Amino acid sequence: MIELKSAEEIDQMGVTGQFVGELLAELRTVAAVGVNLMDLEHHARRRIEERGAESCYWDYTPSFGRGPFRNVLCLSVNDAVLHGLPHDYVLRDGDLLSIDMAVGIDGWVADSALSVIVGTPTPDDLKLIEATEVALKAGIDAAQPGNRLGDVSAAIGGIARRYGYRVNSEFGGHGIGRTMHEAPHVANDGRSGRGMKLTPGLTIAIEPWFCRSTDKIKFDEDGWTIRSADGSRSAHSEHTVAITKAGPRVLTPRPVDGTRPGNLSDQPAATS
Ligand code: MG
Ligand code: MG
Repeated sequence: MIELKSAEEIDQMGVTGQFVGELLAELRTVAAVGVNLMDLEHHARRRIEERGAESCYWDYTPSFGRGPFRNVLCLSVNDAVLHGLPHDYVLRDGDLLSIDMAVGIDGWVADSALSVIVGTPTPDDLKLIEATEVALKAGIDAAQPGNRLGDVSAAIGGIARRYGYRVNSEFGGHGIGRTMHEAPHVANDGRSGRGMKLTPGLTIAIEPWFCRSTDKIKFDEDGWTIRSADGSRSAHSEHTVAITKAGPRVLTPRPVDGTRPGNLSDQPAATS
């Protein structure tokens, strides 16, 4: 069942989303050459506790992972793309790091992710991150009331193809609200004009992720981390979005940071 949210409930999700956006922006600046992934994890745990928020990841036991998860971040480095398990790893120059987090505040959840290059970027990695951010923006722009879910998916898939990447549609976006993963599934590729109608009050997480040279994935021995099957690097961008009468509203905006790569999607595509 899909629960449509009132304007007040969307505002409450926006309160959570603002915290998520701010913390992600902060984590992006903490991530640097020589920093351990566990430092990022502990930094996030402290912030979440201070805010009185609740991690949606902690104790999460989904069908696709070896639960329960005992971290508040997913940290995916280089060929890892989704559900990266924070572990004792010191970031190196040129690493491509994806940070994903979801928390609840007063019962309302927001979910967002970004990818960043630590240290010196390569053009290939910047292009990959840019593609996920442009696809995210295209997906958000397509999340207009009266459109269909397939329009969002098609917009994302179209950008992937324009950049020369293939799309894996096993893992994608999702409904979100009182819990992190709700119906509907928001695939990262599809046919425009198909699928459920987008109605004001629908809240979804849109999250394109692409691997540089494959659409196949493999699971790490840690039981969580998903990697590209061919070892190529991958990137991930995500926002929580509400469909409103006035258009899509990004609930997880990030403070603009013009000094580092990987910030093209930081500004909401539309607000209402
Ligand atoms: Mg996420
Ligand atoms: Mg998500």
